[in-house]
Order: sequence, then structure tokens, then C-alpha cells
Amino acid sequence: MNPRDEYELDCSAVIADVWLMLDGECDTTTRERLQHHLDTCGSCLEAYGIEEKVKSLLSRKCGGERAPDTLRDRLKIEIRRTVVIQQLDGDV
Ligand SMILES: [Zn+2]
Repeated sequence: MNPRDEYELDCSAVIADVWLMLDGECDTTTRERLQHHLDTCGSCLEAYGIEEKVKSLLSRKCGGERAPDTLRDRLKIEIRRTVVIQQLDGDV
């Protein structure tokens, strides 16, 4: 087993955190966790094509600016699709 797995955040957990962040307040702990994962993993969100959106959302939302509903809706759709795909993969 890769020892990095012990402290590296699971990519699906990151997606779940993004989801939470979309619906909730800007949580510093969640934000730092996401930021750290993006810095160290750098492939999961990119693979979903939402890395840049999430990054801008992190800075914008935590800068006191609310994410536009259009971006919010788009992210929700993409994240939901991603989660569904991962669940399907997990069953195989
Ligand atoms: Zn990842």
C-alpha cells in the first residue's frame, strides 16, 4: 500500500468537500484542505475539468464574493456526474 494514502486526501472526498463548500459558508478548514489537496494532487479536479473553476471559487468565495449561480449550477452538475461515475466504478 502506498504510504502517501494515509495522509493524502482521497480525491472523492475532495469532490465531496467542494460540494459542501458550494452549499455552505466559507469554512477555513475545508478551504485549506482543498487548497492543499489541489497543490499536492493536482490531477483529480483537472481530470474532471473543474480544477480552474474550483480554484477561482475558492478564492472568490473566501474573498467575500458569492459564487455566481451559473457557475454554482454548472459545478453541481459536473460534480454530481463525477460522483455517479465514481460510484459506478466502485461497484466493478
Ligand atoms: Zn486528487
